[in-house]
Order: sequence, then C-alpha cells, then structure tokens
Amino acid sequence: MTEEEKWGPSQADVEWTEQHLSSLAQGGVWAPGGTGLTYERTGDKELSLRSITQHPESLGMHDRVIAIIGKTDWDLVEGDYETIDPPLNPMEAQYQQMMQQQEVAARWDCPNEDCQQRLVDMPLEEGRWVDLGQQSALDEEGKVVEVERWIVAIECDACDAVVNLDPQDYGMLGGDELFFRWQAPDSGPVFTTLTREQVVDMVDSGVDGDTCVALGTDTPWGPVPPHMRGTYCLRSYGGEEE
Ligand SMILES: [Zn+2]
Repeated sequence: MTEEEKWGPSQADVEWTEQHLSSLAQGGVWAPGGTGLTYERTGDKELSLRSITQHPESLGMHDRVIAIIGKTDWDLVEGDYETIDPPLNPMEAQYQQMMQQQEVAARWDCPNEDCQQRLVDMPLEEGRWVDLGQQSALDEEGKVVEVERWIVAIECDACDAVVNLDPQDYGMLGGDELFFRWQAPDSGPVFTTLTREQVVDMVDSGVDGDTCVALGTDTPWGPVPPHMRGTYCLRSYGGEEE
C-alpha cells in the first residue's frame, strides 16, 4: 500500500505516455504492462477504459495510468468497460487477454476519417518494418526504460493512407505467419522463420547456406527486427513471380 501511495509519475513517464498515445490510431488499443488492462483511443485526446481485471496489479496499474493522464491534456473516460475476474491459471490469463485484444483489433479501421477500410482487410503481408531507433518505454512496473522501437507501416489499399502499427498489434492482426516473415528493405530477400523440425529437414537434405540462414542483428539490407534475431530462416526472393 505504502509503495502505491508514494508513486507519482515522472516527467519521462508523462512524455512517454503522451508520445505512445499519439502514435496509436483511433480505435487502437493500449494494454500497458500485460496487467489485464485495456484502453482504446476513442478521440483526438481521449482514451477510454475498455477492460480491467479484478486483481491488485491491474487496479494499481490503472491508478498509475490515471495519475499520468492527469498530467497531460488527454481525457480518460471510464464509462463502458468490462470487469474481468482473474483467471486462476496464468496461461488462461494470457489467452483471455489475447482474445480480447484480437476482438478489438478486428474493429480497427483506417486512420483516414473518410475511409472505412478495416486494418485486418488491408494488405498486411506488404507491411514494412521500420526501425525508429532507441526510445523510452514503460516496463511492467511502470518504470521508463530505453528500448529499440519499431513500427510496421501498412498502406491502406482503399485510400493510400499509411498506417503505422505497433509490432504487437501487427502480430495480432496478421498472426504468427506474417509476424515471423520479414521482407528486407530495398527489394531484399524475404526471411521466413523456420521451426526446429524444418531446420533439421533442410540440413539433412543438404540445403545450401544461402537458403537456410541464421539472422543476427544486421544484414546488408538493414537491421533485423528484434523478434527475428537468433532464428533460422528460409531466405527467398518472394512476392513477384516473373
Ligand atoms: Zn484508408
């Protein structure tokens, strides 16, 4: 209790939160710290609580979010939200959170107000991974840490607006199949993460070292998105067939 009372947002917390919220598309979801809380951006400077879990961590995080938002020019709306009983099993908790987020994600539409195209129907497979460099982020305890920041840029096929998605949101919309497939920039190769069994099969059948490659931090085409590092990938020149 006393720890909660002492906590007050730092300038860095406030700046990070404002920056993060501004980068969300309207209808975009923010689920800070995996604590069973979800918020949705519902207006230019408006954030709405969508779900909260009856658990001290979730309630405590919500109090911290209220304190941070209070220092910005954003409004936090607590009108129509769902209260969730905490699942007894952590795997179930994760699964429930993912299902909730997927439900919300399916409703996201184009940031262009005149366009009704749903994100989920856009050409997600053409998403471009863009490295934004080091940025501050909140860790699970609400502390600011430096992390590498990436976004996935998708072009709306109905109006040409460019949608910048958080990698996590992209994974939610596109599923693992798209998430673990990286088109290197400048018409570079496509890297598709292989399962352990696939690697074994390829090595056993004498695959050459240009087809099955391990990814590090960098490639001749640019830096590797963090979640692809340390994986074995199939390297191909996909997309256009001639
Ligand atoms: Zn559009």
